[in-house]
Amino acid sequence: MKLELPHYPRPKIPLHPVLSLGSLGQSPGKAPPSVLDAGNHVFVTSARFAIALALAQMKIGRHDKVLVPAFHCTSMISPILHVGATPAFYRIRPDTSVDLDSAGALLDPSVKAILVPNYFGFPQDLQRIRAFCDKHGIFMLEDCAHAFFGECDGKPLGSFGDYAVASTWKFFPVLDGGCLVSSRRSLGSTKLQALSLYQEIKLAVNTLEKACEYGRLPLLKLLMSLPVRARALLTRKRQEPRNQEQSAPAAQGSVAVDEPRFDSHLANKLPSRISRILVRFAGKRRAAMKRRENYLYLQTRLRGLTGTRFLHPELGDGTYPYVLPVVVDAPESVFPILKNRGVPILRFGEFLWPGVDETVCPVSADLSRRVFQFPCHQELTTSELDWMIEEIRSAFLQMDGIE
Ligand SMILES: *Cc1c(COP(=O)(O)O)cnc(C)c1O
Repeated sequence: MKLELPHYPRPKIPLHPVLSLGSLGQSPGKAPPSVLDAGNHVFVTSARFAIALALAQMKIGRHDKVLVPAFHCTSMISPILHVGATPAFYRIRPDTSVDLDSAGALLDPSVKAILVPNYFGFPQDLQRIRAFCDKHGIFMLEDCAHAFFGECDGKPLGSFGDYAVASTWKFFPVLDGGCLVSSRRSLGSTKLQALSLYQEIKLAVNTLEKACEYGRLPLLKLLMSLPVRARALLTRKRQEPRNQEQSAPAAQGSVAVDEPRFDSHLANKLPSRISRILVRFAGKRRAAMKRRENYLYLQTRLRGLTGTRFLHPELGDGTYPYVLPVVVDAPESVFPILKNRGVPILRFGEFLWPGVDETVCPVSADLSRRVFQFPCHQELTTSELDWMIEEIRSAFLQMDGIE
């Protein structure tokens, strides 16, 4: 599938965490539960490969079906195709909870598992879904790509599924990294190789370069001219192995991207060394608590904006959000305005799998257009948050004026 994407300028403030001196070191106090507390785990290059590994562990392949939500991103679907299985799309409810009646209606002997995302970091009713899986004898694969931290009914997210996956690059200042978790099974047989030296260097340089681009690590910026030159030499020899799907580089016109992105040369690999080191030493408590703090900061200041409502009016105690999801009445006009102003927003499920439309799940089709996700990660400064709030407010006021 080729998608023609409109091209927007690079976000003015970072969409995902970027490295700063404050990123590292543990702050006093206990870190909140994370998927790493949920059970055995192995680190891989990204969550999509963890999904593929989980499916392989469950011996899911040709002739098998996996239930997946109609509200999804394509990187949840590509690993299913990669192992030869078929996705069957279940509906979700307007609050993004799993519609178990819809999932139940899709059951047949070929259905082996259900993929269950804790969207935006907010836990599903995991006990109920667990009971559904036990009753019907299917595997539960918990997708914690948005929920590295958090708990539900006193247990860490990721511990309800037979397997769980998470995306470390969405939570820490690294460019690659995911993990496969299992509270029930050993992952001892998982064999992973290191990335090539070229990829290691490239990811390390890009991680530092990105920090510099956003004004972090100012001293380093000076020194960076050297590795950047080295990289330029390297890239002349090799093709670019990976482009971040969600943060397209600034360029003119439009680009065509190949979907799904399942670069097999990154499957069955360990994350880069830089990612492993930074994830290990990144301040976990700070990352988790700051996300809550920033979420509430944004929520307080964006409340009451005409034509918007919060997907989740409340932030529960054990929730450490990935983003602030805002449901927008008239998304088509305001989305490009925000994007063109460099506001770092995404729409989860903006590109649904071909054929997944309002006939499959009206709620998913609707939310994929209308839910704007604003970052609340730990590396955003107060002035960056304030800038974003101003841009959002003025964009919506502008819309209001036009109508
Ligand atoms: C991002 C995402 C994935 C895939 O994660 P990667 O680390 O990018 O492979 C899977 N599920 C959900 C819900 C996601 O948002």
